[in-house]
Order: sequence, then structure tokens, then C-alpha cells
Amino acid sequence: MLVKEIKELRSLIKAWKREGLSVGYVPTMGALHEGHESLIKRAVEENDKVVVSVFVNPTQFGPNEDFDSYPRNINKDLELCINACAAIVFNPEPSEMYYGDKSTSVSVSGLTSVLCGAKRPGHFDGVCLVVSKFLNIVTPDKAYFGEKDAQQVAVIKRMVRDLNIDVEIVACPIIREEDGLAKSSRNTYLSKDERKAALVLSRSLEIAKDALRKGERNANNINNSIKEVLNSEPLAKIDYVEIVDSDSLKSVEIIERNVLIPIAVYIGKTRLIDNFTFEI
Ligand code: AMP
Repeated sequence: MLVKEIKELRSLIKAWKREGLSVGYVPTMGALHEGHESLIKRAVEENDKVVVSVFVNPTQFGPNEDFDSYPRNINKDLELCINACAAIVFNPEPSEMYYGDKSTSVSVSGLTSVLCGAKRPGHFDGVCLVVSKFLNIVTPDKAYFGEKDAQQVAVIKRMVRDLNIDVEIVACPIIREEDGLAKSSRNTYLSKDERKAALVLSRSLEIAKDALRKGERNANNINNSIKEVLNSEPLAKIDYVEIVDSDSLKSVEIIERNVLIPIAVYIGKTRLIDNFTFEI
């Protein structure tokens, strides 16, 4: 069922809650693929009712980013959600979500000053604002996020903790194409040559995983081996390669605890991200 208005969504959810049903929530920006689908299916398994939001959130895009060209296809998205057994697809207009004179911001400090936060100023403020609004509107028992956006998971968990929002945040594994490329709505931007070149992201991470398995613990060496692979691809331009503590997202030099290894790479004009967590 497609819902466009907050008022209608709230009354449907209140009726579920009166019946004692649990609610799962999956926030997305649409152009849904198997990555999103895995979150929806997990939510369906773990809750009585599932709400998926499809909203290309203007406040999380920078002035020179791809808000206007971001792929939109609500009919296809609706079909995927129905097939995955979601009860409601919430697809509000920006004017339904934002007042012209909105005055409130939601900002998580520290965790957002590194990685994508450093490269995309204001991005996480936009994400935190929209996610806190959606959590207030949907009031889910559990909300599902992909580890593809590992920094986002860390930031949202911190926001939920700090603001005492009554929801469990569930992080779900990265879904990949058969050849290893992490599924992303932005993969549709890639030309045929770029699509091939984009494999360099997962390939570079595999090499890092191998080195870690063999016992390498010097972060600088791991970082250099990832960069070497990425630099071997002429269409790739590194935005960042980092090795950070999984919880604090602070850089580490010697790998002694669980680390997150996130990378952001331009393939032509398209910025792609990927990561893995190495657990000790
Ligand atoms: P987006 O529509 O890109 O904002 O993504 C919505 C949610 O789907 C986020 O929590 C993402 O982390 C998650 N997601 C996107 N791509 C993948 C993927 N390949 N595997 C798992 N989760 C994903």
C-alpha cells in the first residue's frame, strides 16, 4: 500500500499498535535493489508489519551532488516492496517532510567529522534530521540499515542512544553483485567500462582481507596495499582509504581490536563506497 501523507501513515500505524503488532522500518532513497530487499525481508521476518520509506532526502545532498539526477522509480520500488511483503511504502513529497521555515537540526559530533562526513559536509546532519523525523513518525520497534553505509550505522546508533529514541537499530550485511561489486543505486550511473573498473573497490578490499588473515597488523601497510590496487585502475580516483576503530571511527596504527576498513572511490564522476569489518 502506497502512503503519501504523514497523517494517514500515523493512523494506520496506531491501529496496528492497538492490536499489539510489532513494526519494522526500512528507510531508503528508492531505486531499490537486492541490497534494500535484504533489509526489507529481514524486517518482515522479525516484525508483524513493515514500513519502507522511499524518500530522496534533499537535506543530505551537498550543492554539487546528485540530488536532481538521483534515480527515481516509485512504481518499480512499490512492486519490489509488495513482493517482499512490506505492508506500507511511505513516499512523501519533500513539502510533506519539511516546513519552509524549519528551524531544528540534528547533529552528531565526532563520528561525523571523519570519512564520508569529512568529504560531504552537512551530509550526516541531513541524514540524522530525516532519520529522526522518520523514527518519530513511524515509531518502529526495529529499524534496519545496511552495513554498506557503515559510518551511517555508527552515527544513527549514537543518535538513537543520545536522544533515547525507543528503537532497536539492526545492521544488515552488504549485498554484492556476483562479481563482488557492492549493490548501489548509484551503480546505474556507470558506463560499461566504468562498471568493469568499479570492481577494483571489492578487489582492493579482498587483498586487504587476505593480508589481515595472514597476520599483517600494521594499518599503514594495509592502507598502502589497498591504495596500490586502486591506483592500478586508470578510471579510479581515491577519495579516501581508512582503517578505523569500529566503534569510535578513529584511525588506528596497529590493528589490535575490531577495525572498519572503509573506502570511497570515484569511478569517472560516480562516487562509490565499500567497506569490511575485520574482527579480532
Ligand atoms: P539508500 O537507498 O542508498 O539510502 O539505502 C537505504 C538503505 O539500504 C541503507 O541502510 C543502506 O545502507 C542499505 N543498502 C544500500 N545498498 C546496500 C547493499 N548493497 N547491501 C546492504 N544494504 C544496502
